[in-house]
This record gives sequence, structure tokens and C-alpha cells, in this order.
Amino acid sequence: MIIVTENRTREYRDIPNGKRRKANRRPSERTVGRTSQENVSRRPKQQQKRIKETLAAVVVIIAVLVCMSAVIISLYFAGGYEDEPVQPTAGTPIRMESGAQQATEAGQAQAASNDSGFKQLSDPFLVLVNDEVPLPEGWEVTPSFIGEESVDIRVYDQLSSMIRDAQEDGVSIWICSGYRSVEEQEIILNRDIELHMSEGMSEEEARELALRTIARPGHSEHHTGFVVDLNDVDNAFEETETYRWLSEHAEDYGFVQRYRSDKVDITGIDNESWHYRYVGVENAKKMNELNMCLEEYVQYLKDQGIA
Ligand SMILES: [Zn+2]
Repeated sequence: MIIVTENRTREYRDIPNGKRRKANRRPSERTVGRTSQENVSRRPKQQQKRIKETLAAVVVIIAVLVCMSAVIISLYFAGGYEDEPVQPTAGTPIRMESGAQQATEAGQAQAASNDSGFKQLSDPFLVLVNDEVPLPEGWEVTPSFIGEESVDIRVYDQLSSMIRDAQEDGVSIWICSGYRSVEEQEIILNRDIELHMSEGMSEEEARELALRTIARPGHSEHHTGFVVDLNDVDNAFEETETYRWLSEHAEDYGFVQRYRSDKVDITGIDNESWHYRYVGVENAKKMNELNMCLEEYVQYLKDQGIA
């Protein structure tokens, strides 16, 4: 830009008839006729003008750079750089700790054993959380929002691709429930217990009934950040076009229907056509091929010597 400014100063010069003419053309008669002293006296003025213009240009460049930086920074923090139809808002990692055990590396289950004696596989996407096996100590979730619900940042891309591709096929998917902290699960459970008690049940009865449909805090798969309840949490979801689409395509994005009617005796949870768990594309395809739920699949891998 400095070069442009200099060129402009060099190329154009005011001539008496008020018109502008290229200075690198032949000198006009007037210029030729001018004494050498006149030319000398004009030079410092021209130089001063040039310096002023250069300085002005530098100031403008700096101002533009500062403005651009401000815009870039604000866009970055607003998450406005994503071209996705759904905007992720990555929060700070949330670490779950409920004991003295050392926190493991960023979301890795790291073969941690716990009270249940269950040993998690090293692949974090195969983390097992059920009524017997609690969420591993030090489990980390970095919530990324899709609408009002969030999932862990590690499954965000696959999930948004699945939603987008379904949309292209004319199938509408929305997230009814995603990541849930242990505290949130506690609130949900207590609310349900209170509701049953207000209907006349004893606290014990109310708790028992509530626990039939709501996982104990620390034992919900939603704590992993790898889970979503899609569309309607209702058995009628199984009759929808969306469910049919998911049955065919969810595995291509690494998701499986976690609780099936033929696995209730293993998972301990009724058929949930709306609850999808990310396990990775390869694992999802293999699980469907072998017709295994996660409990079976994890055991199957352990039997293969995979740690
Ligand atoms: Zn669910």
C-alpha cells in the first residue's frame, strides 16, 4: 500500500490548466523552462508531502489491522467461524470426581477399575456406564452445544453430520436430551420422587418407581457426553420415518441404539428407540453385525485380548 501511495505522488502532479497528467511522460514545456533553483525549492515540499502521505497510510493500515483483529477475536469467541447449520459452543472441560482416585487424562477411561470391579477398555468411546458400573473417576466432558442441548466435543462432528444428512434425505432429527451432569441427574431423580410422593406414595415406594425409568446419579450414560435422546422420548418414535432412517444409517456416524427389546435382560433397561450412543463407526458396525449390546461387545473384545 505504501508503494501505491508513492506511485500516486510520483505519477500525478498539478499542472496549471487544472488537468492532471502522468509525470513520467515527457516533461511539459513549463517544467523544462523552470530554473534549477525552482526545482530544488520544490523538492523538500514534495518530500514532506510524500512523508506525510506515507505516515497517513501507515496509520490507516495500523487502524485497519487493529479493527480486523478485534473482529476476528470477537467472531472466534462467539463461535461464529463454524460453517455448520448448528453452532457448537465449546465450554471448558468438566471433570467428574467423586473420590480420591487420580483424575485420568482428558476423558480417557484409562482402564480404571472401580467399586464394581469392572475394568474399562482403553478406548474412551467404549466406556461402559450402567446400573452396576458407574462413570469412571476423572471423566471429562467438553460440552458442545447443538441448540440447547450439548454433547462432548469429540462426538459433535459426527452427530451434526448425521443430523444434516438426515435433513437432506427429508428426515428431521432433533436432540431432546444430551449431556447430563451427575448433579442434573440428581435433580431429575428427586423431582420424580417428589412427584410420586405427591400422588400419595411413601418415599421408598416413590424412589423405587422413579429408579425404574431414571438412572441413579453417576450411573446414567448421559454423563459420558456420548449420548443423545432423539426427537420424542416415546415408544411411538419407533413407528416414525426418522427411526427407520436411523436404523439404517446411525452406524455410519458411529451411533447405535443402546437399549433394545431383545437385550433387556443384559442392559436392565427397557427398549429405548430414542437413545443413541456414540461408540465410533467401526465399533457401531461391528456391534450391529454381531447383534451385541455394549455390555456384550465390551466382553467380546476382552475375550479377544483387547484391553
Ligand atoms: Zn437417554
